Amino acid sequence: PQVIFSAIQPTGAPHLGNYLGALRQWVKLQNEALPETTLLYSVADLHAITLRQDPSILREWRKQMLASLIAVGLDPKRSIIFHQSAIPAHSELHWILSCNASMGYLSRMTQWKSKMALPENANPLDTSSKAKLKLGLFSYPVLQAADILIHRATHVPVGADQTQHLEYAREVASGFNHLHTPILTLPSTILSPAKRIMSLTQPLKKMSKSDPDPKSRILITDTHATIKRKIKSALTDSIEGITYDPVTRPGVSNLIEMMYCMDESVAESPVLLANELKDLSMRALKEKVADTIELHIRDVRERYESIVFGDAKVLMDINEEGVRKAKQSADATLKLVREAIGLD
Ligand code: ATP
Ligand code: MG
Repeated sequence: PQVIFSAIQPTGAPHLGNYLGALRQWVKLQNEALPETTLLYSVADLHAITLRQDPSILREWRKQMLASLIAVGLDPKRSIIFHQSAIPAHSELHWILSCNASMGYLSRMTQWKSKMALPENANPLDTSSKAKLKLGLFSYPVLQAADILIHRATHVPVGADQTQHLEYAREVASGFNHLHTPILTLPSTILSPAKRIMSLTQPLKKMSKSDPDPKSRILITDTHATIKRKIKSALTDSIEGITYDPVTRPGVSNLIEMMYCMDESVAESPVLLANELKDLSMRALKEKVADTIELHIRDVRERYESIVFGDAKVLMDINEEGVRKAKQSADATLKLVREAIGLD
């Protein structure tokens, strides 16, 4: 039977990139899953601390992310929803895998470079960048591999920015299986149909929770007024008319892309959608985009508010049940791993 696993960091409220690139897909997989399929969705708080976090903010964000997962439509009766740090087996497998993880391979991963605002071609083994690079951020993909492998996930739904890390997880699993006993499952990637959603302020960068500028992203918890304000200030261009061309017009194309992803029934492709809107002014386009977003996330925002401002015990119970089930799943694998390497 299938085991579906994915995770999101509690580094802020989810934005439209997370929603269109990941969360909406998680819910769809849940709702279409066969009864025997296991679904695990984790709040990756151990990954969140690879960048410095204020403890009281992190505490708040962990709770908010759990509430967001319910608000987008995950059902705690069907999906196992839990905080990564509540399951020690994730960290333990990370350590075991890291003992055989090649520094060279890891230094070719691009994510830590963007998180450190270093150019793609920077070498972490250079003393200049090595001084700033933290071990945890460097081994981020190893922890991610551990997250997936500890539950013997068969399928991992992610956005396009994560394909490299998934490839790495398969590499790690087959390495372990070769060296020891073949007990780890090689996970397949389920790539979200939605493309990368880009930042509103720097449309050549992806929209990201950890971008210091809050105007760079729309949150699934934003009010209609906030959505309008952020879209209005989105960086576009002064070219006449609306066209879709991510290379020459990244800002406008990102707005079209978001509108298209929100509701694919509006047009057959972003190009055709842009064509339908070609005579609009930039101002009118932005209003339309903001209204489309509002239409599609209003329910999510309202559910979110009712959870966060409602009875705190509801979230606590969800958390407890998720941890119990996730622990069962993880401990079963860890036992086999420990046997395989002689730590039993
Ligand atoms: P952070 O900046 O803290 O890394 P993030 O916005 O990148 O946050 P993650 O928690 O790292 O979010 O990723 C959660 C999921 O959202 C992943 O599956 C990732 O592929 C997807 N995702 C993140 N950003 C985007 C984006 N801009 N467009 C589409 N999918 C995205
Ligand atoms: Mg990320």
